[in-house]
Amino acid sequence: MKYITKYKSPNYNLRSRSKIKLIIIHYTALRNTKEAITYLCSKEKKVSAHYLVSQNGLIYNLVNEKFRAWHAGQSFWQDIVDINSFSIGIELDYNPNGKNNKFSPKMISSLKKLILKIKNKYKINKKNILAHSDIAPFRKKDPGKCFPWKSLENEKIISNFQSITKNDTKIIENWFNKYNIRSKKRIIIFALSLIGYDTREVYKNLKNYNRLTTAYKSRYLTKFTYVNQETVYTNIIKHLFKYLLTKN
Ligand SMILES: [Zn+2]
Repeated sequence: MKYITKYKSPNYNLRSRSKIKLIIIHYTALRNTKEAITYLCSKEKKVSAHYLVSQNGLIYNLVNEKFRAWHAGQSFWQDIVDINSFSIGIELDYNPNGKNNKFSPKMISSLKKLILKIKNKYKINKKNILAHSDIAPFRKKDPGKCFPWKSLENEKIISNFQSITKNDTKIIENWFNKYNIRSKKRIIIFALSLIGYDTREVYKNLKNYNRLTTAYKSRYLTKFTYVNQETVYTNIIKHLFKYLLTKN
């Protein structure tokens, strides 16, 4: 795979620990690749990503993988708060309100190759290929509800939990029952927390609860036209089952 390496961002520092275990997908919300390069390479902006993928599928390497790029901001995943130290950040030249408001086939094809390469190199678990909105659901929407997760599922780059049956989910439900956790909202929060989401400020804060479930829906439930609490609940139980019982 060929990268364009002529643009470099000064916005990086040393990783606090060396183990890379997450891949974070973003969109730039800027007008085009040129603007994105200028932004991500400007010292004043204090942001960056390891890679930027253009609409025509070119991959720009802006920060060396061994360094800590500044893309995640305040985030959380499975008790990791310094996401930048543990991750590779990939930006897509996409803006939901711009002319670049499509995830072009060339862009997605390059993105898949890039993810696979990073995933194999650092032995990254499928479960750890994440949206910015997964790790910062209270602040961020990217890569948004139009991002083709399905296409990544189809090529087994990420896993899906659609094959999980009612009997399987019974195991999970019985377990919650046994510990007397009965409210669907509590179960949803508990399951999201086990999966990795930040639920620390969610149970008593309805606004945050809604933001968290919105982030979840925008990634996992976009195929449904109407999503109520029951839909969220049923899918999260399946998700948790898959999460707990499969290694990768
Ligand atoms: Zn982002």
